[in-house]
Amino acid sequence: MELSEIYQNQEVYNPKKVNVSFEIFPPKDGDISMLFDELRILKKYNPTLVSLTYGANGGTRSFSIDILRMILDLEMNAMPHFTCVCSSKEIIEHYIIQIENMGIENILALRGDIPEDVNVCNFDFKYANELVKYIKDRTTLSIGVAGYPEGHIECDNLQNDIDYLKRKVDAGASAIFTQLFFENDKFFRYVERVRNAGIDLPIIPGIMPIRSVKQIQNMTSMARIEIPKTLADIIENHPDYIKDFGIDFISRQCKDLIKFGVNGLHFFTLNHSDLTSQILDNIK
Ligand code: FAD
Repeated sequence: MELSEIYQNQEVYNPKKVNVSFEIFPPKDGDISMLFDELRILKKYNPTLVSLTYGANGGTRSFSIDILRMILDLEMNAMPHFTCVCSSKEIIEHYIIQIENMGIENILALRGDIPEDVNVCNFDFKYANELVKYIKDRTTLSIGVAGYPEGHIECDNLQNDIDYLKRKVDAGASAIFTQLFFENDKFFRYVERVRNAGIDLPIIPGIMPIRSVKQIQNMTSMARIEIPKTLADIIENHPDYIKDFGIDFISRQCKDLIKFGVNGLHFFTLNHSDLTSQILDNIK
């Protein structure tokens, strides 16, 4: 099922009907069986999509294809991510045709992070909007793009970020999947800025279950995400309590987002079903 079909008419508070999707990444140790077990557990929540990251955590392209096959074998809707950084047009074309031939209907088109040594690779595309157009011109894939409620780390001006998002939308995107955030007000203001720019695509908030203090500190500093005071207090004064606090905190975050009328919730599962399952059980 394509993105526009998945996320249509989901504008009311209805926790039983909210679309959930799960993001996984290729395991570093190559153990797909562990991923298979976790996905089988998550399947009971009827995810509309299972997305697979690309490049960010290593792993070869053929390994990604194996994981995509596994998702399809589990009768789930696969959405591979793809980054154009360091990829030639030939590589991109080969990949998108390959996944389309597998029966995959959706892709998350990203630029990717620029490597420290930019001389190690050539760039046929500089920004994600160029990749979106390239995919749109060559396939019937439905295309998701990334959005940043707190602004992308390279961008100092929130309005510029929206202007660049608009280029991705004009190039043919069908939905926006956001970076993680912990303060819903930031997401609500982001939605307002996006709508004011004339973009009416579904905006799917990225939800990050909280596993440990280290994980939160790494992720928030990497992506320049603000940690709210209540969470900062737990990190500082009760670090052992972070997991329990996190389940409650993120469950409340999700309920509030559903009340706002989001079209879906996209969980960064980090390849584990436990926290995501507990949060979903709390909000049903
Ligand atoms: P772009 O939209 O191209 O934007 C990149 C930066 O350039 C932004 O600061 C933007 O404001 C600016 N910009 C855009 N167009 C222009 C222009 N024409 N002129 C000047 N500036 C411009 N990374 C991975 O490596 N693998 C993954 O699987 C992955 N999955 C992700 C999933 C989600 C939901 C999200 C939110 C991010 C993901 N990322 C992933 C991270 C992403 O690749 C990085 O954040 C990357 O730095 C930017 O990618 P983008 O597609 O948003 O780039």
